[in-house]
Amino acid sequence: MKRVALLGATGSIGRQAIEIVEAHPELELCAAASGSTPLDDVDAPLKQVGGDVTDLLERARPDVVLNAVVGFAGIHATLWALESGVDLALANKESLVAGGELALAAMARGGGRILPVDSEHSALYQCLESRRLEQVEHLVLTGSGGPFRGRTRDELDSVTPEEALAHPTWRMGPKITVDSATLANKGLELIEAHYLFDIPYDRIEIILQPTSIVHSLVRFRDGASLAHVGYPDMRVPISYALTYPERATTPVPPLDLTALTLQFEAPDVETFPMLTLAREAGERGGTYPCAFNAANEVAVTAFLEERLPFLGIADVVEDVLGRSDGAAAESVDELLEADRRARALAEEGLRVA
Ligand code: NAD
Ligand code: MG
Repeated sequence: MKRVALLGATGSIGRQAIEIVEAHPELELCAAASGSTPLDDVDAPLKQVGGDVTDLLERARPDVVLNAVVGFAGIHATLWALESGVDLALANKESLVAGGELALAAMARGGGRILPVDSEHSALYQCLESRRLEQVEHLVLTGSGGPFRGRTRDELDSVTPEEALAHPTWRMGPKITVDSATLANKGLELIEAHYLFDIPYDRIEIILQPTSIVHSLVRFRDGASLAHVGYPDMRVPISYALTYPERATTPVPPLDLTALTLQFEAPDVETFPMLTLAREAGERGGTYPCAFNAANEVAVTAFLEERLPFLGIADVVEDVLGRSDGAAAESVDELLEADRRARALAEEGLRVA
């Protein structure tokens, strides 16, 4: 029996994770938590809505923590699992982006490991498995390009939250769906890949593959590339992380190869500046990634509440990065403070925007 603590149990990933757990006799839910939504229909011995999850995790004694919280709020669960040496199935990319250095230090002390749930990183993890990084030339992160791929800036001027929420290939929570429309999601994933695989930014490429069949690939130094392909269905990476290294069966159908044509294109970084802003924040290091993430969270909320136009999201993030000192966080408190500062700067930016 593997005991799973599920945080963010009422979300898109959370619901699919419950389906996976219920389908596998060797998995059991030992705890479930959400931010504010009730957990009445979730069957777990320990449940908590809101509040500090670390007490819950201590009591639950999980073998694996599936962190499916949205946003920086997931930082406490990420750090708890890594510090405690408990496997971390990580969907909550924001915690690793914002707290990368601290998370890796906690992992080194605690002896835990991260099993990525983000589909691209799960793909890369599988393509890389047991290979030394010196054999790797580049990681190639794929993305669909979101609902606005191919549009010009002018055409994005007045897009609504409803249009941004209509993702072409994935059904996900609202925050990550907007991130996919601005390409901030691919920017967060770039930083996530840097920390997960300990590889410099100039060896991580981003390419669009509009149907989301190729989930990422690794270019090796001998000219070979390994790609991970399959239908876009998060139950595959969730199941992989929860049943690792067993690779249990899922209800996802096999890929019909005869029905496929695969096309790739470079992302339009002029129209979607979040990609460049994320790369710069990642390369500068310190708490710049934390500021990038915090400003994005504030701006996305404002966009969804129709207080900020779509193109304003990148403006707010650029402004906050320009006004942040990026000083490295030596402790969790310093990280929380950097997050708070960046949010305050973003709110200020919203008022003048
Ligand atoms: P969602 O909005 O559908 O669900 C979010 C969950 O987090 C809910 O259960 C909510 O109650 C909980 N939550 C919100 N605020 C919280 C807080 N302050 N404290 C504790 N819990 C809180 O989001 P989602 O689409 O399931 O995404 C979850 C995470 O997984 C995100 O980091 C996202 O980037 C990542 N992810 C999602 C997908 C996907 O297909 N949905 C794919 C890859 C990665
Ligand atoms: Mg992803």
